Amino acid sequence: MVELKACSALVTGANRGLGLEMVKQLLEARCSNIFAAYRDPDGPNSEVNVADPCIIKESAKKVGSLLGKNGLNLLVNNAAVLPQKTMMTATVEDMQNTFNTNVIGPLFVIREYLPYLRRAAKAKGRPGMSCDKAAVINISTDSASMSIMPVMKEPFPLFPYSISKTGLNMLTIYTARDLQADEILCISIHPGWVRTDMGGDEAPIDARESVEGMLCVIGSLTEKQHGGFLDYTGKTMPW
Ligand code: NDP
Repeated sequence: MVELKACSALVTGANRGLGLEMVKQLLEARCSNIFAAYRDPDGPNSEVNVADPCIIKESAKKVGSLLGKNGLNLLVNNAAVLPQKTMMTATVEDMQNTFNTNVIGPLFVIREYLPYLRRAAKAKGRPGMSCDKAAVINISTDSASMSIMPVMKEPFPLFPYSISKTGLNMLTIYTARDLQADEILCISIHPGWVRTDMGGDEAPIDARESVEGMLCVIGSLTEKQHGGFLDYTGKTMPW
């Protein structure tokens, strides 16, 4: 079982894949306040479509009213889409939808939940950074790396996805810089190539192994890794 001292956490895209596994493992780690955010296009409730800033705002209000004076310790931007398109086949819509979900979504999630992250950072009342104080974790990918991508054998076409996730990595850099004074930690993390709907059946690891690794890394973060890009084993990734 993973040791994680964060007592409140919110994970986007938590209805399947890595997001669902993360919620399960946070429960096992006895994280006491877990918000599993997912979109529900057919239902009136529980909607957190990260491509819709109004819905994000509403969800933050709801979650905020349930969080106590200790605020939100851990925010995981996990939801993402991967249209299998190349540089030659990606449409304007593919590029816009991918950017909306993978970059603009995380930006607005961070902005709307920031008051609760700040509250958590203040409530700890001690210097330094850690996920049991306040942290933003952006789930990225090795295919966002501008050093790795040129030599990477793509399992399937990743053009809009890679570009959007490189944008997400820059969001990590900005967030880390702008939230430094609040002592809110922020990193990008690559979960490995994982057997999920997105990763496909050929991927070498399963969701359990990936999330165990990520939670172990997240649980050990300090200000030394702030603004960094790591993988699920804790290895530093090249930007
Ligand atoms: P899945 O495709 O299995 O799950 C994606 C999740 O994102 C689903 O819950 C989906 O919800 C949600 N989602 C998509 N669009 C939206 C939206 N607009 N609003 C809210 N939720 C949304 O992917 P994985 O679990 O494999 O991926 C999780 C994260 O890990 C992603 O950030 C991905 O980029 C990253 N990653 C995954 C790798 C892999 O090999 N699997 C490799 C590298 C990175 P819904 O069911 O409603 O569609």
